[in-house]
Amino acid sequence: MALRVNRRVTLAARPVGFPQESDFALEEADVPAPGAGEVLVRARCVSVDPYQRGRMSTARSYARGLEIGDVITAQAVGEVMESNDSRYEPGDLAVGQLGWQDYAVARGGALRKLPPGLEPQLALHVLGATGLTAYFGMLDVAKPDPGDTVVVSGAAGAVGSVAGQIARIMGCRTVGIAGGTDKLADLLDLYRFDEAVDYKTGDVRAAVRDVCPEGVDVYFDNVGGRVSTAVHALLNVGARIAICGQVSQYNLERIEPTFHPGLLIVFRARMQGFLVSDYAARFGEAIPRLARWVTNGDIRYREHVTAGLENAPRAFIGMLNGENRGKALVKVM
Ligand code: NAP
Repeated sequence: MALRVNRRVTLAARPVGFPQESDFALEEADVPAPGAGEVLVRARCVSVDPYQRGRMSTARSYARGLEIGDVITAQAVGEVMESNDSRYEPGDLAVGQLGWQDYAVARGGALRKLPPGLEPQLALHVLGATGLTAYFGMLDVAKPDPGDTVVVSGAAGAVGSVAGQIARIMGCRTVGIAGGTDKLADLLDLYRFDEAVDYKTGDVRAAVRDVCPEGVDVYFDNVGGRVSTAVHALLNVGARIAICGQVSQYNLERIEPTFHPGLLIVFRARMQGFLVSDYAARFGEAIPRLARWVTNGDIRYREHVTAGLENAPRAFIGMLNGENRGKALVKVM
């Protein structure tokens, strides 16, 4: 193999508030050698996700945080270069938690082999973590009924765009909330939401009320904060609130209170948080269904691709600022 240097993006400092490029370092290391049962993968494309912000913090969370000097946690798709697992051969494409680096070694069982036919990077979004999050969050947690009014925040993003389209497939009336003119156009024209609200202009509550005259039956929440407070005021009796993420809060030193628990009594509502990893045993049921919806055009997507592993920190900061129009990805090679 010709290339023997492994470029790695590591955590140089814990971000305080909004991350800075100086919180990251680009290092060079030797290419790791796979041990028994392990596979060496060369990354083609790495993922950029809001949850990575949580891994940079020491706050209590559902997963262990990064130490200073650790490679930034990320999913990646790449090509198998060497394999000590009989299920993989050089040239196979696989996805796994490989980090922001050129090369990674993983146990074969921790990888998923990609079938030929579909674009490999789809395994990082609509046929991977964010699509699965939308799938289980909408179908298992929110459980919309046909005819329900379903509001999705962060609706132009990787999870939100798929969540809205699944609700549409289920026969719901869909309302997407996102920031800016381009994203509003995507909500209506690309993802076919029935209504779109720009939370960056005007009174969000009034705007959501205008397009939800019969109230809100389901709220799929990706953002939290003032957007969610506005939607909560419009919930119908029996509403379901799926708490997927709270991206508006991830860089705040003090989290904003969003919800008055008394509203659950007033609206006899159900609010539930969830993690996509809780559904790992059922990914095999969801991925073929998502793939069918992509193939037949029921689910559409957009990718926001940054070139060069060295630009991953910039892509991450841009994503937290809302610069990504679609799934944020970094093309490595
Ligand atoms: P994404 O939506 O593609 O990108 C992040 C978006 O967040 C930005 O484009 C921006 O969109 C929005 N945003 C940033 N600051 C905001 C603010 N102050 N108020 C409102 N919106 C803001 O990211 P994603 O990967 O699809 O993730 C979406 C949410 O799902 C995140 O909260 C993430 O943590 C969560 N998630 C949860 C799980 C789970 O298992 N529960 C799994 C994956 C992701 P605008 O331009 O519209 O502001």
